[in-house]
Amino acid sequence: MITPTPLIAGNWKMNGLQASLAEACAIAEGAGRSRARVAICPPSLLVHQMAELLADTKVVVGGQDVHWEPSGAYTGDISAEMLADAGAKMVIIGHSERRACYCETDAMVARKVEASLAAGLEPIVCVGETLVERKAGAALTVVTGQLRGSLPKALAGKSFAVAYEPVWAIGTGLTPTTSEIEEMHRAIRATLVDLFGDDGAGVPILYGGSVKPSNAAEILHAAEVGGALVGGASLKASDFLAIVDAA
Ligand code: PEP
Repeated sequence: MITPTPLIAGNWKMNGLQASLAEACAIAEGAGRSRARVAICPPSLLVHQMAELLADTKVVVGGQDVHWEPSGAYTGDISAEMLADAGAKMVIIGHSERRACYCETDAMVARKVEASLAAGLEPIVCVGETLVERKAGAALTVVTGQLRGSLPKALAGKSFAVAYEPVWAIGTGLTPTTSEIEEMHRAIRATLVDLFGDDGAGVPILYGGSVKPSNAAEILHAAEVGGALVGGASLKASDFLAIVDAA
């Protein structure tokens, strides 16, 4: 059986200065030996330089967010076209920190996904429940509802990934059990097939939330897990490469 190529993407969030480009180069050097697709999503100010530095490596550079409009009076924002122009190939959309801190709704996420596709970027669309929602037994309903609201029809036939990131697992050191991850990823797969037919069966479903070298292998080999979105552990080349190697 041919196993699909996993995607391991690092989300640097608001971390990284010029000096951090050396860490990206170390990641690219080590990632060459991996079967996984590897991406780093640094702060937008580093995208252009990092994309140039990593141009001849297997590591692609992504953004962490975009506005849905191509240009205009949106102080502080960047457009998908700008991100692509800077050399990005991917973009994280709808991260829970964007949803919580900037009140991003599913409808806004869907517009950002459309803008990303129009600019030729591969979106990684994030979904995930809060601890209150999980404790209330609503995790599956919440996540499948987010998917239906956040994934526009324009994704049909396009390359994209979904990242399941339980909000309570991000940056906390907590992770769901393997069977909880598998249950959620199966529900996400069923929703993708419902929305996109056969194409939905091939969309990578990444897990994100406190992935680290010590738990990566178990998570990455769970059913329906097609890779990982990694926050804190992507900032250090040795930790991130250990995760990449576990794929
Ligand atoms: C994230 O924020 O996308 C994430 C997965 O963070 P961490 O790995 O630090 O939990």
